[in-house]
Amino acid sequence: MQALLQVKNLETWYGPIAAMQGVNIEVRPGRMVAVLGANGAGKTTLLNTLAGVIDPFKGQVLFLGQAVHGLDADEVCRRGLVLVPEGRQVFPFLSVRDNLAMGAYTRRDTDGVIRDLERVFQWFPRLKEREQQHAGLLSGGEQQMLAIGRAVLAQPRLLMLDEPSLGLSPLLTKEIFSIICRIRDETGTAILVVEQNAAIALAHADDGYIMELGRIVAADTCEALSRKADVQSSYLGGG
Ligand code: ATP
Repeated sequence: MQALLQVKNLETWYGPIAAMQGVNIEVRPGRMVAVLGANGAGKTTLLNTLAGVIDPFKGQVLFLGQAVHGLDADEVCRRGLVLVPEGRQVFPFLSVRDNLAMGAYTRRDTDGVIRDLERVFQWFPRLKEREQQHAGLLSGGEQQMLAIGRAVLAQPRLLMLDEPSLGLSPLLTKEIFSIICRIRDETGTAILVVEQNAAIALAHADDGYIMELGRIVAADTCEALSRKADVQSSYLGGG
């Protein structure tokens, strides 16, 4: 099957600091792919580079066979690579509903927008209950739900999530990951998630990469990665 996303030899610098080098990643249609790594490994840099927020110094990002590296973030989003950023970044003084509408602001297919909004409310009934509230009044978990819902309304072909578990309780993290799986299963949307919480990501994703100091050091199915002794000792708290 042709890859939806192919990342080839990607390299990103912040001034004199190389945050990511020689990164090769593939996401096939309908798969959930996890990129795991410690604090500072380069995970956010990877997603921001893919989303067009930062320009790479070198390498290629091919989406549906077309080069998207160097394009503006809004054009990358229009093509279907949609990022849920670290820390959610919802609009605190807009209502939940208006935040969701922001995700759909370039769409003209009103029926499709209504259908997607209903889907989001099915996945996240708490957003429906708080539809008219200011987003800034939501809990961290609810803001994560809202950020995911807003991204869904942008019609992603590849939904990219930056540390969805950040600051959430284990129970809420599990709930969010179950819904990410439902989004994949019910819509066929491919998912690329970066996570420090390796256990939860490996338990839910199909394929995984491990990133250390800006480089990919392992790639396999999540099942195979979970069995590796070095992954267990470094990322899963085993010994
Ligand atoms: P975290 O989980 O803490 O977000 P991460 O794996 O997402 O970590 P990045 O945030 O991508 O890692 O950071 C990768 C490297 O780039 C780190 O060494 C970090 O200090 C550096 N870095 C990140 N952002 C900047 C910046 N704006 N300017 C300079 N260096 C940066």
